[in-house]
Amino acid sequence: MTSLALLTALAGVTTVSTLYLVGQSREAEAQTPVPVTLATPLAATVLTAEELGDPVMAERREAALRPRQTLIELVEDLGANRSDAALSLKALYEADLVDPRRVPAGLKVNAYFRGDGESAQLASLSMSNEAGKQIMSRRMPDGSFRPLLLRAHTEPVARRITATIDTSIYETALSKGARDQQVVDFARVFAFDLDFQRDIHPGDEFEMVYEEIVDERGNHVRTGDVIYAAINGKALDKAYYRFTPGDDGMTDFFDTNGDAATKFLMKTPINGARLSSNFGYRRHPISGYNKLHKGTDFAAPSGTPIYAAGHGTIERANRYGGYGNYVRIQHKNGYETAYAHMLRFGPGIRSGRRVRQGDIIGYVGSTGASTGPHLHYEVLINGKQVNAMTLKLPTGRKLSESPEILAEFEQVRAGIDALRLGGQMMASGDSDTAIEPGDTPPAP
Ligand SMILES: [Zn+2]
Repeated sequence: MTSLALLTALAGVTTVSTLYLVGQSREAEAQTPVPVTLATPLAATVLTAEELGDPVMAERREAALRPRQTLIELVEDLGANRSDAALSLKALYEADLVDPRRVPAGLKVNAYFRGDGESAQLASLSMSNEAGKQIMSRRMPDGSFRPLLLRAHTEPVARRITATIDTSIYETALSKGARDQQVVDFARVFAFDLDFQRDIHPGDEFEMVYEEIVDERGNHVRTGDVIYAAINGKALDKAYYRFTPGDDGMTDFFDTNGDAATKFLMKTPINGARLSSNFGYRRHPISGYNKLHKGTDFAAPSGTPIYAAGHGTIERANRYGGYGNYVRIQHKNGYETAYAHMLRFGPGIRSGRRVRQGDIIGYVGSTGASTGPHLHYEVLINGKQVNAMTLKLPTGRKLSESPEILAEFEQVRAGIDALRLGGQMMASGDSDTAIEPGDTPPAP
């Protein structure tokens, strides 16, 4: 029985999966995987060699790779003879299904044996080094091993969470089924509008819709993007939609009117800091003279990361007199930002390097003329320091300035709203809901 026949014989199934047979050098010229579409749901998470193999298949043995152990040692420990262990793995290596130099400790390997005890013979090996994928090496009647790659049929579903914040958005979202990455993404959307330490209050409401990739049995394979983020609270009432404009391809979040969440510069290029000294005249803590303080000070523990306030090019990153370790970034339209008293610079930060908004450029310290760990932050326009806190900064992109792009956005926005409303109709209470994309309930 050929492998293909074996696999095709796997019936009793409902949806379509794609399966890749990897040609073996002895019998196939093609080394590239050949996609075979079957009318079968091969949920990778449940597929085992037993399901694939002949019914008299015997014993399954399982082990996880230990640190510094090689795969061949593991397969031998499971009871395969040296030659079978080597041949079964060589088939996987030659087909590029497993890179022997990059096998993570902890990788689970299943081995299937025919026969008993000492005389048991390795029939197949299987492992999964990536969600949604199952790799096998299967003994053929001639004693050779054939590599197989089985891919679960996956699809994105939208998940919606609406909740009232009791403790934090993080805890509330996790308790509703979101994962760390979605909460981080959600917070990033609001980074320009909100200080999460100060501006979130118990009783505020939030909503997020995110994609999740699942196999046909609904098992989680991986998380996808947040596509909608909204807060309805004391400090802010705002909703953002994920959208990639067709002209510049820069994915961002846009509010109902098509204004980007991302602004030109961040007001507070540091998390969790306390504003300790404003721009303006004050008695200098070291010299004692009354002089203009040309920046804003944020007190924060030594080592707290400092972010690039906007996209730009590093003009200098060096020791600079009383400023201590100092970074200055040049942005568009005559704007610059400067960061002083750093403990040290971020990885790879040096003059001439381009940075993106949010990149770590250094860490809070107390170098130069400084009385304690803080970030001294300056915004300059055409070389002159201005008050960053009261400055009306240029906003991010406004889609209303590009009518065609705005029309694209409005379609995407309507699609996301339809998902949300669909979810509401299906929802029991306000808990999280899986929404099948493609359902198009009446537009709001
Ligand atoms: Zn200062």
